[in-house]
Amino acid sequence: MENKRDYYEVLGVDKNASAADIKKAYRKLALKYHPDKNPGDKAAEEKFKEAAEAYDVLSNEEKRQKYDQFGHNMGPQGFPGGGGGSYGGGFGGFSMEDIFEQFGDIFGGHYGASGFGGATGSGTRARRKPTRKGSDLRIKVKMTLAEIATGVDKTLKIPTMVKCEHCNGTGAKNGTAFATCNTCHGTGTISHIQQTIFGPQQSTAICPECQGEGKVITEQCPYCHGEGVERKDNTISFHIPAGVEDGMTLTVQGKGNAARRGGVNGDLLVVIEEIKHPELIRDGNDVIYNLMLDIPTAAIGGSVEVPTITGRARLKIAPGTQPGKVLRMRGKGIPSAQGGGTGDELINIMVYIPETLNDKERAAIESIKDEPNIKASESVKNRIFSKLRHIFE
Ligand SMILES: [Zn+2]
Ligand SMILES: [Zn+2]
Repeated sequence: MENKRDYYEVLGVDKNASAADIKKAYRKLALKYHPDKNPGDKAAEEKFKEAAEAYDVLSNEEKRQKYDQFGHNMGPQGFPGGGGGSYGGGFGGFSMEDIFEQFGDIFGGHYGASGFGGATGSGTRARRKPTRKGSDLRIKVKMTLAEIATGVDKTLKIPTMVKCEHCNGTGAKNGTAFATCNTCHGTGTISHIQQTIFGPQQSTAICPECQGEGKVITEQCPYCHGEGVERKDNTISFHIPAGVEDGMTLTVQGKGNAARRGGVNGDLLVVIEEIKHPELIRDGNDVIYNLMLDIPTAAIGGSVEVPTITGRARLKIAPGTQPGKVLRMRGKGIPSAQGGGTGDELINIMVYIPETLNDKERAAIESIKDEPNIKASESVKNRIFSKLRHIFE
């Protein structure tokens, strides 16, 4: 048996606490560790469940008395009638849904009345008919950098499970071939009395025969064979905003597969696949272009053409442009998907040193190699190195 904390300790009340004090203490803890306030927090969920379990016992006079007498040290086997496993061995099995259904009223009108309707007080569990949800569809959409920079509207034909129109999604012939369920007599639920160590308790469950529908199909729809859905090419339009990245998933709600026999549609999950640009490298919202200048252009200056996301642009090269220098074309990058500006295109300058020379070229370079501006002086080196350093800081 697992090590359990004392229920009074869990709720932070003493052994003589009144029913009102216990309720107050539980309410405080339940609100503090409520999953709405602690999304994704497993520890909070455990605390929430632990408090619910403690409250379940201490709020019931009979259970409390037995707990006071025996503590945690009694499994169902200690009590022949305790087949329900609702004490000792079984409490850890409280699901969040159980807690809302059983103690929904503790949270006040919001959960009790609407959100988790059917809270009928301790001992009786009324289960809701679950809402069916169709499965999600997942597609990949390839996008160029240009499309990513502007965002695009896509219209695609996607094979999707849709509501069968011959039976209006019911699965019954013409949508009418139903009869009242014999098992639950149309109520959709069945009740039975369960013997527990605390005495008989009534529990209500969804009718297994009709899954809570209250009616059963007498003749299946011949088009969908009772499924209520059929596969069709569905034309779906959606917008992909600017600034998306490779691997990102966008959710188009309600555009996935229809659920069997009623319920809500699944979602369409659009996975972005970025087509690599042949010349530009994406770096977040910036794009980088490695520009290789020849020696004369780097030394004398000039004008060169560079690729951009949308086409090409001319770029002025100042005389004496050094390798390693980065030129910035503002706003020529990609807009942020979160809003907040557009990136830049960064031109990373490289200078091409000839790998082979013919006699004429060799002679030309030889002829200037001892000229005063060809070799970098110490002060020139220092100036250029310190400039390059700043680029990457
Ligand atoms: Zn039924
Ligand atoms: Zn049908």
